[in-house]
Amino acid sequence: MASIVFRNVRLIDGIADQPRDGVSLVVENDRIRAVGGGEIPVPGNAAVIDLKGQTVVPGLIDTHVHTTLMDKESLPLFLAAGVTSARDVGGKLEKVLQLRTDLNSGAQLGPRLFVLGPLLDGSDQSLDGPFAELLDSVPSVDAVPEKIGGLLKAGVDGIKIYFSMPPDTVRAVIKFVDKRVPITAHLGYTHSLDAIQAGIDGLEHVLISPYNEFCAVGMQFGLGASMLDPAFFPKLIKGWEAADLKAEGARTWIGSMVDKQVNMGTTLDLLWLAKFGIDAARRDPDRKLIPPMALARQQQMVAHLGERPDWDIGNPLAETASGVRALEKHQLVTRTLHEAGGLIVGGTDCGGLSYPPPGFALLRELELLAEAIGSMAAIKAVTATAARYLRQQENLGTIAPGRYADMLVVDGDPIRDVRELRRLKTVYRGGVAHDPQGLLAQVPQRAREQAAMESTR
Ligand SMILES: [Zn+2]
Repeated sequence: MASIVFRNVRLIDGIADQPRDGVSLVVENDRIRAVGGGEIPVPGNAAVIDLKGQTVVPGLIDTHVHTTLMDKESLPLFLAAGVTSARDVGGKLEKVLQLRTDLNSGAQLGPRLFVLGPLLDGSDQSLDGPFAELLDSVPSVDAVPEKIGGLLKAGVDGIKIYFSMPPDTVRAVIKFVDKRVPITAHLGYTHSLDAIQAGIDGLEHVLISPYNEFCAVGMQFGLGASMLDPAFFPKLIKGWEAADLKAEGARTWIGSMVDKQVNMGTTLDLLWLAKFGIDAARRDPDRKLIPPMALARQQQMVAHLGERPDWDIGNPLAETASGVRALEKHQLVTRTLHEAGGLIVGGTDCGGLSYPPPGFALLRELELLAEAIGSMAAIKAVTATAARYLRQQENLGTIAPGRYADMLVVDGDPIRDVRELRRLKTVYRGGVAHDPQGLLAQVPQRAREQAAMESTR
């Protein structure tokens, strides 16, 4: 690979609070070598690209995906949407490790991948049917060294704690890992404050992990609560609707999240359908790109659980009005945490949820985040902050010398309107240019559109 010089760049570098105009960037092989205004030293053989009128943004990072639940031919969709790195937060160990090897070596086209291995629960009861392969259990505190030690030895990039793990096991896992890798959790039974105080690095889903701190005491989920219970999601939505963000539990949670600098992975997109409604979803062009495997799994789940509209793509988690009010509460939690100095990172659960597709799910998350905390903060959440969370700040998340040349050329101004990130002209991963339209053309769409039509009937 040779050197490329980009001139006249409008730069959002993931560090500054304002874009800078008239910047030059030098990329050598897979890394950014220099960033500067005006004249900077240029290698003799460099290709020069003038980007007047265009914006360069760091490649986006989705911190909550399930890559083994999507077809391999859908993985280039991440790049097509500008997502150059992703963190798999739950998959069968051998499968995710192999996929990480294939993606990071370039054998498989797609994002850089970081993996956490399986969802670790206290028992193997919390997910069954088509999602069972994601789950593994740490049945007691005594089982922690062998189970967690084995995962660390296998080379995972972090640990994911799941819904029904009890507090003593959660604390034992965090203590055993001792900050060697980041730990995150999708909590249900254990209160997030317990995990925060024990030293956890991140929480997943505003909708679920901190729920017990925000809802009224009588609405909390305790031992034996199950996401597969038909009453689960309606109760969750109701609890959020009634939640008082100024109550003591909420204030303590915000204070602890800021104090301990715990990353909040938002997944606001879980309630997108509630906000925009099924008609908008039917018109959504992203729908053509839903991975067939994810769609089929969701349909199997509906069949497995019986009459369960809450698991069906055509029926969001809740009645529209309640869902919208819950989403607005989540956006308010996000804004309050951000303004207090807390860490927000964006995630989507793509693959786990069939809708919307990989990559484009993060663009939608960004739009919901920007409503809550503004465009610049939303962009930092899915670039610089996410990279620090992955402990990859020396490699990813910002446009600065020494970082990988993972960057997006955007034909628009994503600060004025974050939706302009969809006007992607070129996506660079490690200095290699990808044409988003070319990538999209390679993903077969007609069959998918048909399948998605049926599911949104
Ligand atoms: Zn997930």
